[in-house]
Amino acid sequence: MPKKKKLPLVAICGRPNVGKSTLFNRLIGKARAIVHDEVGITRDRYYGEAKWDEYHVRMVDTGGMVDEAPDAITRAMQEQVYLALKEAQVVLFVLDSQQPLTKLDYDARDIVLKSGKPVVLAANKLDNAKLRENVYEFYELGLGEPIPVSSGHNLGFDALREALEAHLPKPEP
Ligand code: GDP
Ligand code: MG
Repeated sequence: MPKKKKLPLVAICGRPNVGKSTLFNRLIGKARAIVHDEVGITRDRYYGEAKWDEYHVRMVDTGGMVDEAPDAITRAMQEQVYLALKEAQVVLFVLDSQQPLTKLDYDARDIVLKSGKPVVLAANKLDNAKLRENVYEFYELGLGEPIPVSSGHNLGFDALREALEAHLPKPEP
């Protein structure tokens, strides 16, 4: 039997509470990741698969990437993030458009840049057009153009998938 080809991996990264798990659930179309108001609730790597058009990818929802005061558990989680980044074809970096950039956004950005992987930037929580002007600040990160999305309201996902496609291997017809 031919060996099953491993699907390309998309790593969803960003500081706590920007909506990574909500976005992950939208992309995989299931409520599998744990979404919570409490900062740092995602205690592990979570994998799922997403299919759209001819594309079929694995997604990992990373938690605990950065922390104000990392304890032993957090450090163990950070190790998992590095493993995910090493394996990933593309990083989906998530920001909260309803908040100004924080030190933790920059810390997470630095980790992602060190991986050398291509990055797609998602400006999440852009629930309405009024929030659009908030995203200009995000160019400061040097990660390229932010793509406005609302994981809560399922907005902007066509453009987001298209941006991811540019970094994924062409699917076989
Ligand atoms: P994570 O820590 O980055 O995984 O963030 P979560 O997915 O757990 O979400 C953190 C909080 O942001 C939760 O209360 C979500 O309901 C909320 N949230 C996520 N996406 C959106 C969005 O697009 N709009 C708004 N208004 N809230 C969102
Ligand atoms: Mg989470």
